[in-house]
Amino acid sequence: MGLREELGGITAVLDGAAAAYLNDSTEVRGLHGRADAVVLPESAEEVATVLAWCYEHDVAIVARGGGTGYAGGAVPDGGVVLALERLNRVRSFDPLLWRMNVEAGVTTGDVRRLAREQGLMFPPDPGGAEQSQIGGNIATNAGGPHAFKYGVTGKWVTGVEAAVPPGELITVGGPTRKDVAGYDLKSLLIGSEGTLGIVTAAWLRLVPAPEAAFPVAAFYDGIAAGCRAIERVYGSGLEVAALEYLDGGTLGATGASFPMGMPAGAGFLVITEADGSAAEAARLRDETAAVLGEGALSVSSPSAPEEIAALWRWRDGVTFAVSAQLGAKLSEDLAVPLDRLEDAIEGTLEIGRRYDLPACSWGHAGDGNVHSTFLLAPEDPEQLERASRAADDLLAMALQLGGTVSGEHGLGLVRSGWLARQWGERAVALHAQIKGDFDPKGLMNPGKKV
Ligand SMILES: Cc1cc2nc3c(=O)[nH]c(=O)nc-3n(C[C@H](O)[C@H](O)[C@H](O)COP(=O)(O)OP(=O)(O)OC[C@H]3O[C@@H](n4cnc5c(N)ncnc54)[C@H](O)[C@@H]3O)c2cc1C
Repeated sequence: MGLREELGGITAVLDGAAAAYLNDSTEVRGLHGRADAVVLPESAEEVATVLAWCYEHDVAIVARGGGTGYAGGAVPDGGVVLALERLNRVRSFDPLLWRMNVEAGVTTGDVRRLAREQGLMFPPDPGGAEQSQIGGNIATNAGGPHAFKYGVTGKWVTGVEAAVPPGELITVGGPTRKDVAGYDLKSLLIGSEGTLGIVTAAWLRLVPAPEAAFPVAAFYDGIAAGCRAIERVYGSGLEVAALEYLDGGTLGATGASFPMGMPAGAGFLVITEADGSAAEAARLRDETAAVLGEGALSVSSPSAPEEIAALWRWRDGVTFAVSAQLGAKLSEDLAVPLDRLEDAIEGTLEIGRRYDLPACSWGHAGDGNVHSTFLLAPEDPEQLERASRAADDLLAMALQLGGTVSGEHGLGLVRSGWLARQWGERAVALHAQIKGDFDPKGLMNPGKKV
């Protein structure tokens, strides 16, 4: 019997050529995978049984969530793709206890909506939330604009159920909000990009949703004025929920559709959001607007719900608008200490000039997280090759500035090997040892992260 027939005895199997399961958001930089089979298990037990079969037969196994990842983490190079979309049940939801237990394939958007309907909030808000899954968010420890105040996904996970080699289900943590009994295996699985185990379900922590959330958007003539404004928000002790930026090149691609109108000469945009009780949010919004107003070309603070929704919808579309300029883009996901943010934004443009590539950046300024981007024509392989070399310069710049090669997207395939340049030898060796303890045969998402 062949691989597909044997797996078919365990769960639903698609043909290995099922194209929709072989790429992720790095497709625009030319990354395509190949697989011998794609399986669609329906339960955690089926996931563990597939893993056990793969382990016994030395077959690589690549977990796939919504395929929105920006690191090529879900792109297979042979073996079995295990897609989690059919593990989409909400196992329990206790609004009065601010917690939810969901299977890995529930989308981020559904978790957030469900919480919201009960007056609660699941704060992590990576873009692509209608497609990305909680399992994928956990596997990448995803961030998003509101990670500035609320932290990344891991902060909101109290327990993880996962299938681990050679094919067993483990549960680390649960509904308990505090647990220091063992080594923090839950946190090892969070951000492990499918290289240690396959997340099948998670216990999520929720908070009461703030009564109000008011954005403030301020345009500046350039990077220096914008970065000074960001520093002033920090220095003034204003605890905004989100602190985002877009540089001039990004505004060139998207500014024309900015909902409140972009002033002439705009070369940088800062967006914040103030949340809390209606009174607190309004006070914080007004103070933030005053601080951002210094040196700004314009400041707007929409308060009508439809205007606020339009602003965030516009912000969510930035990545697509930038891609649409030439048809493709190559983005890196650097994070640097806050006092080096301006250097990282300027450095991105300088590297673009060095390689003769149109460059821009935007990102989560409050976390020093810079989405450095080169625009590409998809049909030009020489340009893609140049952009790949330029991307290496970006990663080297992040390290030189004391930052990291990935603030939220992970290493995946595209940044594989870079950890050894970011960390010291012993730390990297411990990292590899942990991988070996979980996955002695090296079959879990091979070629990624480690
Ligand atoms: C428009 C857009 C905006 C984005 N904005 C943000 C942002 O603001 N912040 C941010 O952090 N990210 C952002 N992303 C990236 C992406 O959405 C996140 O990385 C997301 O968490 C990936 O989830 P996914 O379900 O799509 O995972 P996939 O892309 O399917 O997989 C990502 C990685 O996780 C592994 N994986 C997936 N599911 C599991 C599982 N159940 N168990 C074990 N491993 C698993 C895969 O093997 C792969 O290594 C954005 C993407 C898009 C397209």
